Amino acid sequence: MTLLQPDPASPRPESLPDIRNESRTTLGHQFSAWNEPAYRLEQVLDWLYARRVETWDAMTNLPRSLRSRLASVWSLGSLSLMRKQGSRDSTQKFLWRLQDGSLIESVLIPANPALYGEAADRHTLCVSTQVGCAYGCRFCASGLDGWKRNLAPWEIIGQILGVERWHAQQTPSPSGHSSDTGSANRLVNNLVIMGMGEPMANYDSLMAALRSLNAPWGGGIGARKITISTSGLAPRIRQLADEPEQFRLAISLHGATDAVRNQIMPVNRKYPLAELTQACGYYLEKKGKMITLEYILIQGVNDATAEVKPLADLARRLHAKVNLIPYNTVEGLPWKRPDEARCQHFAEALTRSGVTCTLRLEKGHDIDAACGQLRLKTERELAAGPANPGSGMDQPAGES
Ligand code: SAH
Ligand code: SF4
Repeated sequence: MTLLQPDPASPRPESLPDIRNESRTTLGHQFSAWNEPAYRLEQVLDWLYARRVETWDAMTNLPRSLRSRLASVWSLGSLSLMRKQGSRDSTQKFLWRLQDGSLIESVLIPANPALYGEAADRHTLCVSTQVGCAYGCRFCASGLDGWKRNLAPWEIIGQILGVERWHAQQTPSPSGHSSDTGSANRLVNNLVIMGMGEPMANYDSLMAALRSLNAPWGGGIGARKITISTSGLAPRIRQLADEPEQFRLAISLHGATDAVRNQIMPVNRKYPLAELTQACGYYLEKKGKMITLEYILIQGVNDATAEVKPLADLARRLHAKVNLIPYNTVEGLPWKRPDEARCQHFAEALTRSGVTCTLRLEKGHDIDAACGQLRLKTERELAAGPANPGSGMDQPAGES
């Protein structure tokens, strides 16, 4: 466990919007109104997204007058890294403190060359879109304390920039110093919107963030490398299908019948399976893209052999592949993961039914990797006060 920045985020002018909420187009309008030459905009975007600077003064090739002008219109915030868990060559979890003191998580997962055939220096980042979650799935740590607020686009983008900035600081440059930032140091080439929160319930901010992360002038992450996961907000799935970008879609299904889904996912009462699958059908028709169905295996809830047939029928109907994920236990919740043999048995039965499926041995089980768990633990430690030896907020500690 590493406690990197024990101090609360320093107060900033709250009234100004962050510049990374803007698109290149809206920034361009402002720069034109100021009669700035076009290359100035490129310089600013380079400072923001390739070099990932945290202050206006770091933008050293801009005239001082332009820097002050920028600072008078926008703020340039950053997420404060409060805790990091995990080791450099495996799954790592980042706990960020936002300017209002809220906590969110991102999880960095190194590419598995055997699984994806990619170089091992490429990584997937799992990002949050809300503080807490209103959807209250019974098995999930993110929704346990309810929903607090939506993240702004820059707070979604800031998770990628923050992780890459951290990475650049860890990587020695040929000169022996910790390296400069810059696009050569891009770490994240795959994004999964599977952290805390229901992304489709923060749709506009999510889209604004993803467009900047996808753009060549921004994060440079291909749309096909960005997967949005939803618990099943049918109208938003249709809306996503109508967008020009080819973002990928994953559905947190976890039950292939209304009976099972109603038991663990309250959202199913609003958008039952028939409505959800119709929306998925629409997405498929519009995008021609394969959907992924996420299916957590929870002992005694959805792991019976009888559940295989409805799941296989649904997956075949949607030409979807299925990711089976053994449940990650959450402190304070009663649900358990089935034993490995049962998970294997379920996966084999599904495969025999003609469905492509993977049984993902959950990475990072040991570091509370399922969404919301590190935040929940930290919130509880903080609430317990400084006397609690587990809180450790005042002293940096070594990695464990
Ligand atoms: N709200 C969105 C995205 C965030 S949740 C959604 O539900 O899809 C990301 C994934 O983690 C979801 O598939 C969710 O069901 C799963 N998840 C939540 N708690 C989990 C746990 N304890 N073990 C394994 N997966 C979990
Ligand atoms: Fe929210 Fe997703 Fe967790 Fe359900 S699984 S409570 S929708 S974050």
